[in-house]
Amino acid sequence: MYAERLRSTLPALRDRIAAVCARAGRDPAEVTLVAVTKTHPLEAIDAAVEAGLTDLGENRVSELLQKAAARPGGVRWHMIGHLQRRKAPELIGVADLIQSVDTVRLGERLSRKAQELGVEVGILAQVNTSGEASKGGFGSEREGPFDAPATLSEILALSELPGLRLEGLMTMAPFVHDEAVLRPSFSRLRELSEHLRCADPSIGTTLSMGMTNDLDLAIEEGSTMLRIGTALFGPRPT
Ligand SMILES: *Cc1c(COP(=O)(O)O)cnc(C)c1O
Repeated sequence: MYAERLRSTLPALRDRIAAVCARAGRDPAEVTLVAVTKTHPLEAIDAAVEAGLTDLGENRVSELLQKAAARPGGVRWHMIGHLQRRKAPELIGVADLIQSVDTVRLGERLSRKAQELGVEVGILAQVNTSGEASKGGFGSEREGPFDAPATLSEILALSELPGLRLEGLMTMAPFVHDEAVLRPSFSRLRELSEHLRCADPSIGTTLSMGMTNDLDLAIEEGSTMLRIGTALFGPRPT
């Protein structure tokens, strides 16, 4: 079922990405597609890999670990969901990019484990660029703007932690269709990345933004990494 679905959804998605890139004067090769397999069975993973998708995203630690153990090799695993400090270190050595690092304390926990295992792990700093109280990320508990000096220095501190490689930033836009709300939450992430990289050029250029609902605007605003579930696999099983 998943294989058949991907035969139509993946080319359609690639066409859509290519069309937006053409309009925006961007090269589609700059935009990595992360297929979000959360809650879908292993069959979805097999179909995705068979279709040539190499980057897969999960939002729960236990589910990512189980799936990665069942399908070792050939997949780059992305952690995209909220992380508890206690469980997060289990990802080290398994997840290739931990996109949802939203506090320095969580980063410190991951850093300790990475050093223990003698590995380096890629991370993104998740930033709350929308001001929505329900969303996590740097800047979320502050009254002030997401780019307050305190937030900037926290992300810079994250980039100093040994064993971690800060590859860039991630954000989740509000689940709305209003362009006037969506566009700024993406452009803010891009501007924040530029500020941070002035202060610390070792920070990577990845901007993980754009989901099924808002990928066109995200690409127009500079996304280099889309996290797409529904447009590829259909509605998630509940
Ligand atoms: C589920 C999820 C996605 C994918 O959402 P779709 O709307 O199904 O494309 C992307 N990012 C995060 C953080 C998610 O939790």
